[in-house]
Amino acid sequence: MRLTVTLAFAVVASMACRPSAPAAPDPHALDPIARRYVVLGLNLGRSDPNYVDAYYGPDSLKAAATAESLGVPQVRAAAESLIAMLGDSVPAYTDSLVRMRHRYLRVQLGSMAARAGMLMGDKLSFDQEAAALYDAKPPLFSDAHFDSLLARLDSLLPGKGALADRYQRFRERLNIPAAKVDTVFKTAIAACRARTLAHIPLPPGERFDLEYVKGTSWNAYNWYKGQYHSLIQVNLDFPVALDRAIDLACHEGYPGHHVYNALLEQALMRERGWVEISMYPLFSPQSFIAEGSANYGIDMAFPLAERTAFERDSLFPLAGLDTSLAERNAAVRQVVERLNYARNEVARRYLEGQLDSAKAAAAMSRYWLSSPSASAKTVRFIDTYRSYVINYNLGKDLVAGWVERTGGGTEAGRWKAFQALLSAPHLPRELEQGRQ
Ligand SMILES: [Zn+2]
Repeated sequence: MRLTVTLAFAVVASMACRPSAPAAPDPHALDPIARRYVVLGLNLGRSDPNYVDAYYGPDSLKAAATAESLGVPQVRAAAESLIAMLGDSVPAYTDSLVRMRHRYLRVQLGSMAARAGMLMGDKLSFDQEAAALYDAKPPLFSDAHFDSLLARLDSLLPGKGALADRYQRFRERLNIPAAKVDTVFKTAIAACRARTLAHIPLPPGERFDLEYVKGTSWNAYNWYKGQYHSLIQVNLDFPVALDRAIDLACHEGYPGHHVYNALLEQALMRERGWVEISMYPLFSPQSFIAEGSANYGIDMAFPLAERTAFERDSLFPLAGLDTSLAERNAAVRQVVERLNYARNEVARRYLEGQLDSAKAAAAMSRYWLSSPSASAKTVRFIDTYRSYVINYNLGKDLVAGWVERTGGGTEAGRWKAFQALLSAPHLPRELEQGRQ
């Protein structure tokens, strides 16, 4: 707490020393707040092991967090003090990126305080949690909406038996034989990287390592290590369907999480020295942009028709699968993607106590068509990550809308907008701007 008071004085003093009111505020006044934000995040990570998804900043800030060992209530109080210092309005910095930085720090700190409050027992509704942690407003969908999507899927998968069984049987025909998984993934990764590099220059030396794991609550994960390096882990608990190759290669790698982290490190951490970027809090608005851009990145690198052709002509043969399934799979995937919002609705009802875990898994199987074991796994994911699920689908839809509006209708424009999104401290609320 003593440090907070000292910081407050330093910021006030630096502003007071300005000769006259109209002079632009000092952008470096944000530096001590950014350092304090990192130390508070690292402190919170001591109590909440999933909170800090990546940290590649100075060891000194890690040592400061260890030396302080703040409890959760102290982190919340300190975050609220920093929010008060930042104030309700953004000073008139001449550099628009600094104005973004100010807003970003304020909103990320608000999310940190909310997460600390949840750890202290605050009970939030699903929508309150989404707003507090992710700066987002999830839409509400009725069962009738999902039923109409299931009817569309029913017509794409004719045959005997329940739709969920037909869907599972269809998916089983897409499973990559275990011995071919690595080759198919590496081919997909190379294609996603080449397509990204054609539009976005990547930092020199960027790379990632790929590992296969079992027993995790997630299907794949990007652990960003700094120095433009990621570790990407893929869970092999269940057979991997062919279209997961492009999904994972783009989402975790190019132009998804790996590229997002690398561009932020290059543009903000290295070129500007903005240390806050080196600490990525998982339960924060940054995850909304991260997951949304990673999912939209799949469509950026592989627009629908190109993806279908690439899968049919390259990946299906590599995996030894029936190429005649590629077109139908693309049509099925389009519908299933809209059904992803069912996961949000089931999560909402489960977290608010309307469904127990068995009923939540059953609802997941009905509306998301996952197998019973995969549904149980999704419920375990929700136990840990809660309203985080909105980041995948709502995040994608808002990123898509923003990139398409900002990009001006051309492929080059969309890539330029996408690169800009990945290189600056954007907030979810900004993605709504310009929406009709
Ligand atoms: Zn992700």
